[in-house]
Amino acid sequence: MGLVELEALEVRTSDAVVVEGLSLSLEAHRILAVVGESGSGKTVSALALCGLLPGGVTARWRALTIAGTPIATTADLAPLRGRAIAAMPQDASAALDPLMRVGSLIDEVLEHVAGLTSEGERATRRRSLLIEVGFSEPSAVERLFPHQLSGGMRQRAVLAATLAANPSVLLVDEPTTALDAALRTNALALFRELAQRRGLALLFITHDLAAAEAIADDVIVLYAGRVAEAGAVAKVFGAPRHPYTAGLLAARLDRGSSKAMAGSIPALGERPVGCRFRPRCARASPACTEQPTLSSGVACHHPLEPS
Ligand code: SF4
Repeated sequence: MGLVELEALEVRTSDAVVVEGLSLSLEAHRILAVVGESGSGKTVSALALCGLLPGGVTARWRALTIAGTPIATTADLAPLRGRAIAAMPQDASAALDPLMRVGSLIDEVLEHVAGLTSEGERATRRRSLLIEVGFSEPSAVERLFPHQLSGGMRQRAVLAATLAANPSVLLVDEPTTALDAALRTNALALFRELAQRRGLALLFITHDLAAAEAIADDVIVLYAGRVAEAGAVAKVFGAPRHPYTAGLLAARLDRGSSKAMAGSIPALGERPVGCRFRPRCARASPACTEQPTLSSGVACHHPLEPS
């Protein structure tokens, strides 16, 4: 059994279903990437998993266990948050208090989430966390304020605080978007190393297919709130079967493509009946007015043949 076993997540507002039927499994030492365009439901799914949905948005599921604990409702997630399951904020800069030194930021989690009451123990732990995320001079870094850090340093400081209570499941949302190419490569290597060394189960939310390919073992492709395709990254990216996955891959800028996919993801109130990708799909047929079910990793009435 994985550290997270989720069956049939549904996220909704008062008048619309945002995400439906999302099932996933997160295992120790493995990284699952969730990819898709903006509006596909990636971020809201991760927020639902750690019980951090904004007001007016609710989640339910057929079954959910985290680190062996069955979770019936969103309220059951609160005692696990930051401990068994932790989420790294999308915008590290916004997550930092400008008046709080890096050391105090980590201390807050060590004291109030991990329950470490001894200042001496916290100091040792703080420095080892800072070293773990790549700071070679932790004693100097813990005295710095956010404005004294570069973008990459801020991200690592927030990561150290997120890891302070030793979560076994880590959710990260677009962690490389604001970084330049060199920092991006370093950040991906660090996440990979942390998953291996700590035995973390890592959920990696991104629209960046190159990042997903570089870091993940498995991938889920979301489109307008539903799973289009899922499986091992090498298989899905090597021989995509869903026309949407194929379109995303064909438009990869990192591969020098100039073939942007036609059309855009439908707004919440404008999702078509049946397959939601239908208005953008060259393979659409009348059968596609029926919603396709996910079968052998792909939800499509006319999937591409594996090459
Ligand atoms: S179900 Fe039909 S419309 Fe949807 S992706 Fe497959 S072929 Fe295209």
